[in-house]
Amino acid sequence: MSTDSRETTPGTPERGTDAQCEHVLARVYEFLDHEVDNATGDEIRAHLTDCEPCLDRYDVEQAVKSLVKRCCGNDKAPDHLRVSIMTKIQVTRGTF
Ligand SMILES: [Zn+2]
Repeated sequence: MSTDSRETTPGTPERGTDAQCEHVLARVYEFLDHEVDNATGDEIRAHLTDCEPCLDRYDVEQAVKSLVKRCCGNDKAPDHLRVSIMTKIQVTRGTF
């Protein structure tokens, strides 16, 4: 008597699957730069709404970008600055 059968259906990617997350995360930068078309943007937004790990990543990416923009007036952050910001954010989030 197992009414709760949540089998994975082949061909139907479940929310939060690694493949989908990779697909989304690979485009997060383009998404942040508004370089994706509307359909892709919606897809990414929808996934981020459903997928906590990705939203977490997205938050970090966006935080880094806005911080870099604010202090350098530039999208392109030097690697060392990027790393130090990321570390700071991770530490902050980790101790929360
Ligand atoms: Zn995801």
